[in-house]
Amino acid sequence: MERQSSQEIKAYQEELLRRQLRYLQEHSPYYRRLFEEHAIEIVEIQTMEDLLLIPTTSKDDIQTYNADFFCVGRDKIVDYCSTSGTLGKPVTFGLTDIDLERLAYNEMRSFQTIGVQPGDVVQLMTTMDRRFMAGLAYFLGLRKLGAGVLRVGSGIPQLQWDVILEQKPRFLIAVPSFLLKMIEYAEQQGIDYRNAGVEAALCIGESLRDADLQDSLLAQRIREKWPLKLYSTYASTEMGAAFTECEAFQGGHLHEDLIITEVLDDQEQPVPDGESGELVITTLGVQGVPLLRFKTGDIVRRHIESCSCGRNTYRIGPVEGRKQHMVKYKGTTLYPPAMHDLLAGFPEIEHHVIEITHNDIGTDEIVIYISSRQDSDEYLSQIKDHFRAKLRVAPRVEKRSSEELQRIIFNPLSRKPITFVDKRNR
Ligand SMILES: [Zn+2]
Repeated sequence: MERQSSQEIKAYQEELLRRQLRYLQEHSPYYRRLFEEHAIEIVEIQTMEDLLLIPTTSKDDIQTYNADFFCVGRDKIVDYCSTSGTLGKPVTFGLTDIDLERLAYNEMRSFQTIGVQPGDVVQLMTTMDRRFMAGLAYFLGLRKLGAGVLRVGSGIPQLQWDVILEQKPRFLIAVPSFLLKMIEYAEQQGIDYRNAGVEAALCIGESLRDADLQDSLLAQRIREKWPLKLYSTYASTEMGAAFTECEAFQGGHLHEDLIITEVLDDQEQPVPDGESGELVITTLGVQGVPLLRFKTGDIVRRHIESCSCGRNTYRIGPVEGRKQHMVKYKGTTLYPPAMHDLLAGFPEIEHHVIEITHNDIGTDEIVIYISSRQDSDEYLSQIKDHFRAKLRVAPRVEKRSSEELQRIIFNPLSRKPITFVDKRNR
């Protein structure tokens, strides 16, 4: 299907959409109520354009009415995943047997897109437990594809290298900044990492491209030392689907039978393709907790030009930031990922935390705490100058001890490292 024309793909998605709407009407307490309250006749929703007639669903809605989003009883739920919940209460998603199969299919397609073949060995360097959907999806997808999995989990470079050297995986699944830690460890220990047999990595959590789809500084730093193919994948518990880059590295391809996307402005109107806006998704084929027009809070761009790989599905570019994390600084607006990436260009920095506060005159203030092998005043002002030149903002840069920052970053209550602290009142 992904090689059909974009019109055929759209028509196919609309057919799946109509099926999904009937399912929601029948099984979802939340959406049945929403249709009633807004006098929506689902038979009138036929095309993507008609979706605009239905109100969006927010994270707050799911948090407040979590149980009403379930379309099946508890006896049908096989796995209870949760959202990462770095802010606020995590939300629970129940997956049925069919949903797990859908997840496996989704991830199998992602792995096929990056070139994994039956018989390949893949090292999983993320967690599979803690109700984390992605780790489970990788395992299921590789199993379905017929590849072998090395479930090493997150962290511990020494253990990762022991397994790589012994089992010779062709692919890694990792957070990109951890690959830098792996390189550093290999250099200290004299491991010949470039010839260890690893060819490519599927990367999650941090952007490998900037808004123009060029390599981020982080991607450049990894590849300068270790010339792997670095593929970005973007997914979330709510979507239950991934957008994964092909060898053209021009954004992650849509899996047309699993999800519908819209990219909307602040007034919830579609932005032109190629421009940034909030990603809004509708899941297809989900049985347990399907979502209709869910606002992800992620700022992305949609790229519709045909791809050199031969797929005609559109692509979603890197997440440029979280909508709620937008920083306004003297006429400039920016998002934390661009700041994180700029700091990736300073290899002396061990850890950093970006803190945003609201000052007395109502503007945002940026403070960057760093622990670094180099912390002279000159070095700190070099960082500040770089921010001014590249991002047109002037943060305060302060040094802190490595231990102090690690306590903030590796919070045991969070599955993801915390490197952005928002102290603004809203
Ligand atoms: Zn492609």
